[in-house]
Amino acid sequence: MSSSSRVLPADGDVRCSRRHFASDNYAGIAPEAWAALEEANRGHASAYGNDAWTQRAADMIREVFETPCEVFFVFNGTAANSLSLAHCCQSYHSVLCHDVAHIEKDECGAPEFFGNGSKLLLLQGEHGKLTPAGIEEAVFRRTDIHYPKPQVVTVTQATEVGTLYTAAELRAIGAMAKKHGLRFHMDGARFANAVAALGCAPREITWQAGVDVLCFGGTKNGLHVGEAVVFFNRELAREFDYRAKQGGQLCSKMRFISAPWLGMLKDGVWLRYAAQANAMARLMHELLTQIPGIKVLFPQQVNSVFVDLPKPAIRALYDRGWLFYNFIGEGGCRLMCSWDTSEEDVRAFAADLAASMPK
Ligand SMILES: *Cc1c(COP(=O)(O)O)cnc(C)c1O
Repeated sequence: MSSSSRVLPADGDVRCSRRHFASDNYAGIAPEAWAALEEANRGHASAYGNDAWTQRAADMIREVFETPCEVFFVFNGTAANSLSLAHCCQSYHSVLCHDVAHIEKDECGAPEFFGNGSKLLLLQGEHGKLTPAGIEEAVFRRTDIHYPKPQVVTVTQATEVGTLYTAAELRAIGAMAKKHGLRFHMDGARFANAVAALGCAPREITWQAGVDVLCFGGTKNGLHVGEAVVFFNRELAREFDYRAKQGGQLCSKMRFISAPWLGMLKDGVWLRYAAQANAMARLMHELLTQIPGIKVLFPQQVNSVFVDLPKPAIRALYDRGWLFYNFIGEGGCRLMCSWDTSEEDVRAFAADLAASMPK
């Protein structure tokens, strides 16, 4: 995968009138987040997070997880992952992750950079998922002084290939982590989609499964910008405020990062949007599996569908103005739905695809 293979034709229409399937961060800002942002934009307030919105947003996150966790707001997922992993490690430690993990494939070495050299050790696993046995094998692969010492295991929920860990699978990974004294980190860029799809309580797939720290994604769920680093292991959170500041992640006008969370977390808005995105991917899957010659690459479980498409069909869809990534192996395409994807969008895309298939 070269970087250029991931650059799509530019969307020439400055009005962005069409909704695409390239990424959930192609979408705009959810109205509830926007309204909360506007509400926060009245007069002056204390800077650097010493404001009522930031306090309230952290409290609401504690209510969501039903536990007294430590919460820090940062700008993006790369920072959330890199800084929280760095906070778990000494420079001579290693992080066990899946070989398709965002921290490995899409963060430009930031986890190693902020970890001062702590190394990512890549594990395999079906459907983008780690297994307890795979983790144990990695821990025992080398135990000598010449190899970086495993310190953290990290999972992505939902995964980079749109699959889910069940609560039971996470508990088993948590137990394996505990057995070997590893910290348990979760990249939750699409955590909302996972909770909506599993229909579980957020606590069941985090701290009750042994997760020490979660990067709770906001941007892909409909925020303008921002992720929350949530430490269930509160001792581990010690001095994370300094690390975030040093890492360039302490927003001075913090209320504009935190306030939109209030709009999203109120009355389950975040889960409604995630469920909408998931439902649209389900519809996409249903429509695409009716088209002969299309192979689905991974189980459809959250807000994405991964399919193998013939190259001429990909070109024809690009020519019709659709944007989507085609970086999964040879011709593998990712169709990603977002909080505002509509049934008409999905049906229009599926119809264009059906018409673009080689006869
Ligand atoms: C989008 C995403 C992130 C965050 O990426 P940023 O561009 O740094 O915000 C992290 N992990 C996963 C799995 C993602 O899909």
